[in-house]
Amino acid sequence: MADCLFCRIVSGDIESNVVHQDDTVVAFRDINPQSPTHIVIVPRKHIPSLSDLADVDDGIVGHLVRIAAEIARTEGIAEQGYRLVANCGPAAGQSVDHLHFHLLGGRNLSWPPG
Ligand code: 5GP
Ligand code: ZN
Repeated sequence: MADCLFCRIVSGDIESNVVHQDDTVVAFRDINPQSPTHIVIVPRKHIPSLSDLADVDDGIVGHLVRIAAEIARTEGIAEQGYRLVANCGPAAGQSVDHLHFHLLGGRNLSWPPG
């Protein structure tokens, strides 16, 4: 989608600090990190949010989650622990309407989140 920020990052139209990319997903450092490690992982396919997932997307999400765990290992945060979260909708604070997961780590993360 031409007017979607994350589609434009996926296409390389907007620059980002990419840590992983393959045929299905792109992972890049968040521009406003909330923890020492804060990586955004998105499917190449434009899916607005978790609520828009269809059964044909199961493979995409499964792959994305496995890649998140792989990135956590390469970033050196897997042993101490990390969090993988997807904000869905306005009450959760979703600000970009292209499905994305935040990989957060490198500090102790409180629970419950705000
Ligand atoms: P949300 O609030 O929708 O869950 O997450 C969107 C995330 O995208 C935010 O953490 C925000 O900092 C990040 N973000 C917004 N614009 C850009 C950008 O242009 N580049 C990068 N790397 N991250 C961005
Ligand atoms: Zn998009």
